Amino acid sequence: MIEPFVHAPLPVRVIFGAGAVARLPEEVERLGGRRALVLSTPGRAAARAQELALSLRDRSAGLFAGAVMHTPVDVTEQALALVRERGVDTLVAFGGGSTTGLAKALALRLDLPQIVLPTTYAGSEMTPILGETSGGMKTTRSDPRILPETVIYDVELSLALPPAVAAVSGMNAIAHAAEALYARDRSPVIALLAEEGVRALAQALPGIVAHPEDRDARAAALYGAWLCGTCLGSVGMALHHKLCHVLGGTFGLPHAETHTAVLPHAIAYNAPAAPEAMARLAAALGVADAALGLHELAARLGAGRGLRDLGLPQAGVAQAVAQTLANPYWNPRPLAAEALTGLLERAWRGDPPASD
Ligand code: NAD
Repeated sequence: MIEPFVHAPLPVRVIFGAGAVARLPEEVERLGGRRALVLSTPGRAAARAQELALSLRDRSAGLFAGAVMHTPVDVTEQALALVRERGVDTLVAFGGGSTTGLAKALALRLDLPQIVLPTTYAGSEMTPILGETSGGMKTTRSDPRILPETVIYDVELSLALPPAVAAVSGMNAIAHAAEALYARDRSPVIALLAEEGVRALAQALPGIVAHPEDRDARAAALYGAWLCGTCLGSVGMALHHKLCHVLGGTFGLPHAETHTAVLPHAIAYNAPAAPEAMARLAAALGVADAALGLHELAARLGAGRGLRDLGLPQAGVAQAVAQTLANPYWNPRPLAAEALTGLLERAWRGDPPASD
């Protein structure tokens, strides 16, 4: 039976293909840009970002290579000053979710168009969602101005992503699709994208870890990331994203690694309440049990670490449960303190998932 649904496609222009980065100047022009600022994280990415800025010739307003994880407001303010000083009219983000976050924060404040060239699989480029930190607090909001106008997926840009980062980043993308399958506002179209995204990533990630230079595997992962990011941008997220938000925001745990550690356990928690989603997820993963399959995939990728290895103190489990219950997201299975404690204790130790 087809359940009632609402589907509102995101107005993002997506360009996918090896060498697509060469289209950046014409895409800036297409948006009417005359002064485009390229954004990146510091370090190695900045050198490649500088080349992108140069490729824009007289439409370039230079480079800001100061993006950092969790989009701190003080960094956004530094970039804002530069944007104003140089009369920037277009933003070009080259990097992962951290760089995209900075572009989104600027676009929210100035309503400037954004072109994103993703180099990880976080999927942020496909969402109208922004998480910002200030004074140790992370707040998330959604606004149409935050959604990038154009995304250019070029496998060449992702080849330098270290396999260990690729692995957890891909698990982060799978988390978006997994929760989209049982989202309260799920739709048949998003479910199709979710299944295809999980299938692409589950096949590609082991290939990337074994052969980091494998272009086909890298391209398939980027394709999966696009689909999973679209899921995140289109429907509401549930327990898994709530737990990761709490763990990242309160304990400063690393984003993609935390998603990887929590996902099998959150899926096991929700399994009894969402049998159809579990069947579709398991089929996409090519396994009998979705939660166990995710646990084994993470282990195969060398990413199967417990939250304790990521820096969560044991006392943090009770605190995270309390925070999750204080301000919960909608979830298919009701949230109960005892069961959530069991979930997080298993995730803390890095044990296999179980549904109690
Ligand atoms: P990231 O952007 O922080 O990148 C991870 C690391 O990989 C960084 O050190 C970066 O410099 C490096 N890196 C990136 N691309 C590289 C490349 N091609 N070669 C070499 N090194 C490279 O990590 P991420 O997981 O993509 O993003 C995490 C951030 O994104 C978090 O702040 C998270 O909250 C946010 N996020 C937001 C959304 C959303 O929709 N709002 C979705 C997912 C993630």
